Amino acid sequence: MLLIASSNGDVGMDAAWEILAAGGSALDAVEAGTRLVEDNPADHSVGYGGFPNLLGEVELDASIMDGSSLRAGAVGALRGYRYAITLARRVMDELPHVMLAGEGAARFAAELGMEREDLLTEPAAQVWREGIAGRLPEQFRDAQGAVMADLLRRAAGLATDPERAAGTVNFIAQDRAGRIASAVSTSGWAWKYPGRLGDSPIIGAGNYADSRYGAAACTGWGELAMRACTARSTVLYLRQGMGVEQACRAAFADLDDLGMDPAKVIMNMVAVDAAGGFTALSTADGRSFAFRRDGMGSFDLAPRVYVAPRGL
Ligand code: ASP
Repeated sequence: MLLIASSNGDVGMDAAWEILAAGGSALDAVEAGTRLVEDNPADHSVGYGGFPNLLGEVELDASIMDGSSLRAGAVGALRGYRYAITLARRVMDELPHVMLAGEGAARFAAELGMEREDLLTEPAAQVWREGIAGRLPEQFRDAQGAVMADLLRRAAGLATDPERAAGTVNFIAQDRAGRIASAVSTSGWAWKYPGRLGDSPIIGAGNYADSRYGAAACTGWGELAMRACTARSTVLYLRQGMGVEQACRAAFADLDDLGMDPAKVIMNMVAVDAAGGFTALSTADGRSFAFRRDGMGSFDLAPRVYVAPRGL
């Protein structure tokens, strides 16, 4: 058995491990772990308390993948319901679809009887107000400091996500039966343009699992993982016979082809292979991830492998 997560998954590691230890499925484990991060108001990058979009509305993205059946579920730009990962799972389990977005996702949550709530906490709202009112040039703001509605497209390029390098949660588990599942949940890029989807709900970009080879999940600059299909590429590199760190390095090297300024490239990945190998990489120095495997009395945090982006 194996469980790995981005470091902000620490609050969900024990609950997820308990499920694995009791003989439960990897799918149940990654969902349970992710829900506890979605519950955590101190985490401004996931679920309740997440940072909002440019207009001050929290919009959640999440996806879950069952590596044994290659089934997947996802929701994007979900408003008003904190458990985006459970909704993603219900899409997978109950609908003939993979992804629901926006109003349709919220409608499905309501139909399932999920609790509707305001996800914007006062601390997150305050950072939003300061971030927007304080950092954007005056001509973009109205008297209250909010972005003027007809200037959103210009403001989107100027507003800076305060946790750009640290958002989103990733969980990957391998259960006793060898089944691998992965889950990703996020409130996305803070101050994003309303309706923007990142890599987290896109199967193949921010999340991919195939029990025969392994799984990968990303945090960081979602647009890059979307353009390079980073999570799926990593699993394909595993399928081609690379070791888990080599496969992640190859997927990171693909980002060099995107023509970005290397100083701006932010990518983090956690990955496992089918034999129980695992690793985590980051383009930022000093980042960590959480892991637990058989024989350990509790989970541990370990440093990520640092990869310097090269760019073109
Ligand atoms: N990857 C997420 C996104 O682009 C954000 C993050 O991980 O910080 O929405």
